[in-house]
Amino acid sequence: MQVFRYSQARTVEGAVRANGTFLAGGTTLVDLMKLNVLQPPAVIDINGLPLDRVESLPNGGLRIGALVRNSDLAWNETVKEKYTVLSEALLSGASPQLRNMATTGGNLLQKTRCYYYRDTNYACNKRQPGAGCSALDGFNRIHAVLGGSDHCVATHPSDMAVAMMALEATVHTQGPKGERSIPLDEFYLVPGDTPEKENVLVPGEIITHVTLPPLAAGTRSHYLKLRDRAQYEFALASVAVVIQISGGNITRARVAFGGVATKPWRSREAERALEGHAATTETFSRASDAAMAGAKPLQYNGFKIELAKRALVRTLETTTQTA
Ligand code: SF4
Repeated sequence: MQVFRYSQARTVEGAVRANGTFLAGGTTLVDLMKLNVLQPPAVIDINGLPLDRVESLPNGGLRIGALVRNSDLAWNETVKEKYTVLSEALLSGASPQLRNMATTGGNLLQKTRCYYYRDTNYACNKRQPGAGCSALDGFNRIHAVLGGSDHCVATHPSDMAVAMMALEATVHTQGPKGERSIPLDEFYLVPGDTPEKENVLVPGEIITHVTLPPLAAGTRSHYLKLRDRAQYEFALASVAVVIQISGGNITRARVAFGGVATKPWRSREAERALEGHAATTETFSRASDAAMAGAKPLQYNGFKIELAKRALVRTLETTTQTA
C-alpha cells in the first residue's frame, strides 16, 4: 500500500472542498488500496457526516442517506414491506459482516470483480487507460454479455443497484458546482473507449442520498440472484422485477439485470414485452428473449444468456404467484 493523506470531513461542504477519495465503509476501497489497484493520494473519511437516516417522504417515497449501512437498509420495516426487491437484493450480497459496514453510496460505487482489474500483473484498460484488456481473450466466464466494448467487458457487481434500477431511484449529489439529482438509469456509463469512467460524478462530488418514488398499492417486487454458491458470491445473473397486475394483465413492469452487463442493466425491451400482456409463462418467455436479444457472448460466458432468460421467467412467475 502506498502512503496517502487521511482526513475526516465534518460537513458535506468540507468533504467536497477536500476533493479526495471518499472513505465510508471501506469494503471496496481498502481492499483495492491493499492490492495497489487504487492509490489515492488523499482519503477523506466521511463517516462523521449526517447522512445515515432512512426517512419517509411526504409523497410516499423514501429518502435513503448515503451512509445508511446495507444491513440497516435491508431490515428497515418500510423497505421490507414496500420495497421488498431492495431488501432481498441487499440480503443477497456479501456477508453479514460486510453488510454491517457497507453503505448505500459505497454500494452504488462498487468496483468490478474482474480478476484482471484486481491483479496489477495483468493489462487492464479500466485500471490503466490504454493498457489493453486481458479479459477479452482471457478467462471471461464472469464477464458481461450486455453493454461491453472492445475496451472493457467487466460486469458491475452490485445487487442493491439492480433493485434500485427497477425501482427507478434517483441519486442526489453535492459537488463543486452545487447539488444534482440524477436518475439512476443516467448515473452509470457503459465502458465504450473510456472504461475508467464508470459514472457521471465529477471530482469532489459526493453522493448525499438516494430517493425512491412511491409505489402504487398492489405493486409486487422480487429479486433473484443466481451464482456459483449460495452465499458470499457475486451474481452470474440476477433479476429485479417491480410489477403491477390488473385482471390478469400486466399494467406496469420494471425489469433490471445484474451480473450480465457492464452496469446495472434496465431492460426496456423486457418491459415493453410485458406491459399490456397477460401474466403468463408465454409472455414471460417473450420478455426474456427480448431482454437478451442484443447480448454478445465471449468465449466462456455464453451460458449467461440462457441463465438470465430463465432467471427472468422464474422471477416473473414467483412475483405474479405471490398475489
Ligand atoms: Fe480491465 Fe475491463 Fe478488461 Fe477487466 S474487462 S481487464 S476491468 S478492461
